[in-house]
Amino acid sequence: MDNGKKLAAPCGLYCGVCGFYRAYKTNNQKLKEKLGNFYGVEPKDIICEGCLSDVVMGFCRACAVRTCALEKGVEGCFECSEFPCAHIENYPFDVAKKYIMSGTKRRRELGTEKWITWETAHYTCKECGALAFREAKRCPGCRGELKLEPVD
Ligand SMILES: [Zn+2]
Repeated sequence: MDNGKKLAAPCGLYCGVCGFYRAYKTNNQKLKEKLGNFYGVEPKDIICEGCLSDVVMGFCRACAVRTCALEKGVEGCFECSEFPCAHIENYPFDVAKKYIMSGTKRRRELGTEKWITWETAHYTCKECGALAFREAKRCPGCRGELKLEPVD
């Protein structure tokens, strides 16, 4: 499996711009603490190579959406006629739900590869080219305010 596919989370929350993943990949201790605090995860446990990799943090390993997609043998919710099902309705974080909805819709329209390209471009800082994460307010590269287009 290539690296891109490991990051292609079934729920539509692309791992490449996940705060956990960015914090781990860039070894950003402050971000690990901030996210860990919000999501109830120990900063030291923020170790993840992507939803579909062999190194998935416990928070995501326990995810009902991920489990469902793996059991159904679908690449993601975008392939599922039951979307948005109870697993999405019951997703424990409201802030993530809107990204699940928009991400899955976009993936349906574009296909997986172009969806990943879109996600990456969307969260790349226009000023310095650094890749941010979904809820970032400031660019992790130049520290400037991120001006992202709203996701629908
Ligand atoms: Zn920047």
